[in-house]
Amino acid sequence: MTKIYEKSPAFFETFERKPSQQLTTHYCPGCGHGTLNKIIADLVAELGIQDQTIYVGPVGCGVFIYYYFEGACASAAHGRASAVATGISRSNPDGIVVSYQGDGDLAAIGTSNAIHAANRGENMIVFFVNNNVYGMTGGQMAPTTLIDQKTTTSPFGRTEKNDGFPLRMAEMMAGLEAPALVARVGVNNPKNIRQAIKVIRNGLEIQRDKKGYVFIEVMSQCPTNWKKEPAEACEWIDDVVCKQYPLGTFKELPADRQPQKRPRAEVDFAAVAKLLGLTADDETGSQEMTLPQPEMRFKFAGFGGQGVLSLGLMVAQMATQRNMEVTWLPSYGPEMRGGVANSSVVIGEDPIGTPVVDVPDVLVALNRPSLDKLGPLVPKEGLIIYNSSLIDQIPADLKGKVYPLAATTLAAEAGTVKAANVVVLGFVARMTGIFELSELEDFLRETFKKPALQEVNLKAVSAGWNAAGEV
Ligand code: SF4
Repeated sequence: MTKIYEKSPAFFETFERKPSQQLTTHYCPGCGHGTLNKIIADLVAELGIQDQTIYVGPVGCGVFIYYYFEGACASAAHGRASAVATGISRSNPDGIVVSYQGDGDLAAIGTSNAIHAANRGENMIVFFVNNNVYGMTGGQMAPTTLIDQKTTTSPFGRTEKNDGFPLRMAEMMAGLEAPALVARVGVNNPKNIRQAIKVIRNGLEIQRDKKGYVFIEVMSQCPTNWKKEPAEACEWIDDVVCKQYPLGTFKELPADRQPQKRPRAEVDFAAVAKLLGLTADDETGSQEMTLPQPEMRFKFAGFGGQGVLSLGLMVAQMATQRNMEVTWLPSYGPEMRGGVANSSVVIGEDPIGTPVVDVPDVLVALNRPSLDKLGPLVPKEGLIIYNSSLIDQIPADLKGKVYPLAATTLAAEAGTVKAANVVVLGFVARMTGIFELSELEDFLRETFKKPALQEVNLKAVSAGWNAAGEV
């Protein structure tokens, strides 16, 4: 049997963000992002540049590219991917830098970053995924939204008088002197995909040969926010969207031009440390915390608003004050479907290799989706603490030691349900032995200056501490 379609070798084998969905992606059915990811990965593999390629991900529906592309990846703050890519390109002149951005990211929040990177002719290839809306956040109007197009923030349709005209980024970029290649392609039908492959191959070859900046705008369907069936969304690109955004190559410098090499930017780390006020003492201060093992990995998860990010931050701050090695990594759950917020905290005696917590020693799940999703990751010697005020059923496939804690109820008794995270703080501290109650109380007095807030939080932390004593 001839294999005509297969997963690109430049992709990871599985999607590790969702353990129960390792053979799928986070993209909605029919979304153009998946097709574009596949084209890029296939070409990176075909050109043999996987080891050199460094991807910069945006905020937006493309945020998880680091879960798909097996290569070096960096995440940028919203709109800043072209700026981050500039730094990476300058400090890694031998690397091939891919900046992957959406229209909210590149054409609104990060317009200036994008234009100036193009104008400097940085060695990078920018994929500008244009689906006319802010996709990840629920389909708000973007600078690229069509006239009369209805979005959640233009419910009566975009008007030029109120909102201006749809921004044609490729045409703008083509007006600059430096870019080597500026084009617009589509991923909505086989003919456009074949053309996109040609253009993207050319763009990656320009990067391989260090011949300057490449901007490729990709017309991509967003069936979810357009409220269309996938096939209908693909047709809408041809019938309507491309009237505003015609496909084609808008600028291409001669292929025989010279490479655009820049000297490697050297970083003076000692000068940076001095600027930040870091001293040798910060590196050698004696550690004042006893961990049950050399490194503890925590995951605090729940719905947004349950205080899981600040819970992680409190644990991280207390450990930092005790001169431990610490990382805190928040995750806001940007999926359109089934997202939860969580924070990962690692506390160690030695420098920490990664802030990512795939296998938590301690999991706190304040809601059911978090327990269902993350509970099975905890090994049998790990602790799973769940909010029994809100969770009445626990998954059957948990291996760790499971402890119910009526966090919301105890917090309400202390004065406010908002203090459920502080109840958990007391419980976790006693169960793991990482902090004494008096240390927690000192920290809370420092953190909450208003007497009323202080009182509630001190009651909440005691409630959690006492609950752990009854286990
Ligand atoms: S919201 Fe739109 S752009 Fe985002 S993943 Fe879903 S279909 Fe794709």
